[in-house]
Amino acid sequence: MQKIVCRELFTGEEVIEDAFIVFDDHIIDFGKGEGEAYACDATKADFVMPGFVDSHTHAVFAGSRERELEMKLEGRRYMDILKAGYGINRTVKDTTEADDDEILQESIARIERAIEHGTTTMEVKCGYGVTMDQELRLLGLIDELKQRLSDRIDIVPTFLAHIKPYEGYTEELMGEMERIKGRAEFFDVFMDAFGYDDTEKLLERAKKLGLKLKLHADEFSDCGGIALAANAGCVSVDHLIKSSLDSFKALRSEGSPVPCLLPATSFSSFEPYAKGAEIAAMGVPVALATDINPNCWCENMGFVADLACYCMRMKPIDVLKGITINGARALALKDRGYISKGAIADLIITEAKNHIDFFSRFGAKKVKSVIKRGREVF
Ligand SMILES: [Zn+2]
Repeated sequence: MQKIVCRELFTGEEVIEDAFIVFDDHIIDFGKGEGEAYACDATKADFVMPGFVDSHTHAVFAGSRERELEMKLEGRRYMDILKAGYGINRTVKDTTEADDDEILQESIARIERAIEHGTTTMEVKCGYGVTMDQELRLLGLIDELKQRLSDRIDIVPTFLAHIKPYEGYTEELMGEMERIKGRAEFFDVFMDAFGYDDTEKLLERAKKLGLKLKLHADEFSDCGGIALAANAGCVSVDHLIKSSLDSFKALRSEGSPVPCLLPATSFSSFEPYAKGAEIAAMGVPVALATDINPNCWCENMGFVADLACYCMRMKPIDVLKGITINGARALALKDRGYISKGAIADLIITEAKNHIDFFSRFGAKKVKSVIKRGREVF
C-alpha cells in the first residue's frame, strides 16, 4: 500500500486541496487531509492527477514525413499533398515495405516516450496497410506491442478504414470484415475519405460484428459526422474541426458519442482548431488526444493540453477532464481516468504547483513521475 499527500488532487471531476490518496494497484481511498487512518509513509507532492488516456492515435507505422513540412509552409493543404504522392500514401508505402521488427522498434520508441509524458492508456489504430492482409498484420503488431508493454501502459486496438484507394474498395472491405473479429476492440472510418453512404454501411456492418465504433469526421468539411455517429451508436466522434456548433447539442445526453478533439493536428497542419471552449461550455464532455501519426508527430499529451488551453481557449479544468476521464469515456473504459475507490491506480505526480500552474510552463515536460497500476513506470 502506498500513500501520497498533496497540495492539490484532480479527481477527474474536481480539484481537492490538501488531499491524500492511498492505493495498491487500485485506489483504496482518497480525500481531504493526510489520511491518518492509513499508517504507511507518505510521498509528499504538489499536484497529482490520473494518468493520461490518449484515446486517438495512429502510433503504429514506419518511416517519417518531415519533407512535407516545407510544402505545408508554402500553404499546400492535406489533400493537395496527398495528390502529389506524399501524405498517407507515403506512409502506406513505408509501412507495407517495412518488416515487422522495424515497425515494432519504431512504435515501441514512440509509445515509451508517450509513457514518459504521462500516458497510461493509449488507443492505437491500424490503417496504413490498406489491404486486409496488411491491416491484419498491423493489428497483430499492435497486439504484440500490447503484450510487450503491458506492465507500463494499456493499449486499445482499433481497425481503421483509412483511405479509399479506388471505387469498389468499400465493397471489398465489407466482404472481408469478418476477419477483424477478435483482433480489434473498435472499428473506425475516416469519413472525409469514404463519404457519408459508405461510412454508414461500414459502421453498420462493424456493429453487427460486435465491434465498438469510432468515427473520424468533419476534418475538412462538415460531412454530417456527428449525426451519423450518434445514429450509428459510436462511442466517440473525432476531429470535428468543421462541424457546426449546433450539431454538438446532440452530444449532451448520456450515452451519446464523446467528441474527441485533436488540437495537435490543427497545429501541425496549419488548420483551424475545433471550437473546444464553446463545445465544453455547452455541457458536452470533450476528450482530447494526440492523433500521433507521421503528419502530427505528437507523443506528448501535456502539449495537447497546452494547445487546448491556449489555442482552443478551453478552461484548465475542462482540459484536465479531456486528457483523463473523458479520454476514458471515448474508449468506453469505466475503470480509469478518475480517482475513485476501486479505480485502477494510474497516477501522475506533475511538475506543477497546482492545476492552473500545470499550464504555466507550456511545451515543457509536465510529469515528475508516472504510476501504472500502483507501480512507478517513469
Ligand atoms: Zn486520426
